[in-house]
Amino acid sequence: MINLAPSDKALVPFVSVDNMMKLVHHIGVEPMMRGIADYIEADFLRWELFDKTPRVASHSESGVIELMPTSDGDVYGFKYVNGHPSNTADGLQTVTAFGLLADVASGYPVLLSEMTLLTAMRTAATSALVARVLAPEGSKVMAMIGNGTQSEFQSLAMKTIVGIEEVRLYDIDAAAIEKCATNLAGQGLRVVKCKTAEEAIEGAQIITTCTADKQYATILTDNMVGAGVHINAIGGDCPGKTELAPAILHRAEIFVEYPEQTRIEGEIQQMAADHPVTEFWEVLTGASKGRTDDAQITLFDSVGFAIEDFSALRYVRDQIKDTDLFLALDLLADPEDPRDLFGMLQRAKT
Ligand code: NAD
Repeated sequence: MINLAPSDKALVPFVSVDNMMKLVHHIGVEPMMRGIADYIEADFLRWELFDKTPRVASHSESGVIELMPTSDGDVYGFKYVNGHPSNTADGLQTVTAFGLLADVASGYPVLLSEMTLLTAMRTAATSALVARVLAPEGSKVMAMIGNGTQSEFQSLAMKTIVGIEEVRLYDIDAAAIEKCATNLAGQGLRVVKCKTAEEAIEGAQIITTCTADKQYATILTDNMVGAGVHINAIGGDCPGKTELAPAILHRAEIFVEYPEQTRIEGEIQQMAADHPVTEFWEVLTGASKGRTDDAQITLFDSVGFAIEDFSALRYVRDQIKDTDLFLALDLLADPEDPRDLFGMLQRAKT
């Protein structure tokens, strides 16, 4: 008998881009960011439990392709992600991603998901979670430098998680500023379009740099950064790709996700290998101090770490349970006798 339908155990829930978009609207952009931030916080609080490794990167002249694995002992996850700054000129995105969760006990995948949208959501949720802890009390204004893919997500997460009321946009490409301003219209933020990065940071307590250029760029020079601000530096996330003048790093208290990875990829690749940094999870657990005075410059040297993707996938897995926002994917072989893969092959014989 020919049976092309696999058994249920072999079907893996798959969240396509279309279903991810529907899921985001079903939950709401801001509630979903808050939900993901809660999952990330919960996982950061059990940081020591996780298998951790710097991501595995394959570099080329045009960009990088990376694998980001981790496990909490029960569940294993990984993300495939690229970073190609010149892609947008060809109508392609700088960053695209997909990811998977698997059951550690059996090794069977339990979720496959698009992660381009989810990466933007989790990156914004992480930035805002960190800013909620480290930014000056009562921060209301954020400069958003680099108004590409991540920028609206960053702005809305800072609004809903930190309480930002005004976002000041700057990009070298005026069309990107227009796009971001249009997308943010009516979202409850005061949006100010700026002509220079200097204008964007006027009066801002939080400065987000989110540009894409594979070089040692200087988006912020030392004299642009005054006392008592929080810098959320996202764009420098790859060897040879940074955004801040080293002098800023000397003045700032630097917080990172996973130092072993950040020293390779983050702003601190410009510093000595033993330059002091604080692991953000330790601030959450109380093992390390966060901001200690109003005049301090706190810097989140964000590169994106596997646990954040794991948390985001875990969140999606929980949210799709009672919905039809996934497809059952025929990803795994299901021979009736586990050792008879050849026999299973005969099902498709015509
Ligand atoms: P994108 O290409 O969509 O947008 C980047 C924007 O930066 C563009 O609009 C470009 O015009 C602008 N830009 C470039 N140079 C600039 C400059 N000197 N001054 C002002 N603006 C400038 O990219 P994206 O998806 O928004 O990602 C932005 C960066 O964030 C990338 O480098 C990406 O690798 C990184 N990223 C980091 C994380 C993380 O977890 N840390 C996650 C996702 C993306």
